[in-house]
Amino acid sequence: MSDCLFCKIAAGEVPSGKVYEDERVYAFRDIDPQAPVHFLVIPKEHIGSCGEITPDNAHVVASCFTAIAQATREMGVTDFRVVSNCGAKAGQSVPHLHFHVLAGRDMSWPPG
Ligand code: AMP
Repeated sequence: MSDCLFCKIAAGEVPSGKVYEDERVYAFRDIDPQAPVHFLVIPKEHIGSCGEITPDNAHVVASCFTAIAQATREMGVTDFRVVSNCGAKAGQSVPHLHFHVLAGRDMSWPPG
């Protein structure tokens, strides 16, 4: 999608701190980290949020989680949290499906 920030990041049109990339997925450090380790995993294909996952595009979610496992393994991170905010009331500010990966500190539950 031409006006989507995360599509531009995945295409290399906006700079980012890459931590992982394959043919379907891109991962990069969050610009406003909420933990010592905080990166975002996105499908290169534009999907607005978890609410837009269908049987036709669900394979990208598996690819995202494969990327999460590989990236955390490579970082030596064993304990981490994966979060996806869906919709403004849930805290989503960028309308392109993304998974936050947070680690390096104790996590409280439930999230605010
Ligand atoms: P959310 O609020 O769940 O939609 O998450 C969007 C995340 O994108 C936030 O944690 C932002 O800090 C992060 N973010 C926004 N712009 C950028 C950027 N240019 N590079 C890296 N992370 C970004």
